[in-house]
Amino acid sequence: MATCAECSFFFQIPENYSDHEPGKGDCVTEKKDEKGKYWLSKPTFADSASCAKFNKSVNL
Ligand code: SF4
Repeated sequence: MATCAECSFFFQIPENYSDHEPGKGDCVTEKKDEKGKYWLSKPTFADSASCAKFNKSVNL
């Protein structure tokens, strides 16, 4: 099964950030409502199982 690390919405938290942990990242997805577009960020881990919104990264 694919993991979050292979998803284009996964962003690793840089080492110089206070909430850095090995493998920890943010899942950042674009949302849209009647006021317009916005970005939603939620914590996840590189080795977490992918969800239904998985979008294969072209950089891998
Ligand atoms: S939670 Fe889903 S959308 Fe977010 S990074 Fe993982 S697979 Fe991608």
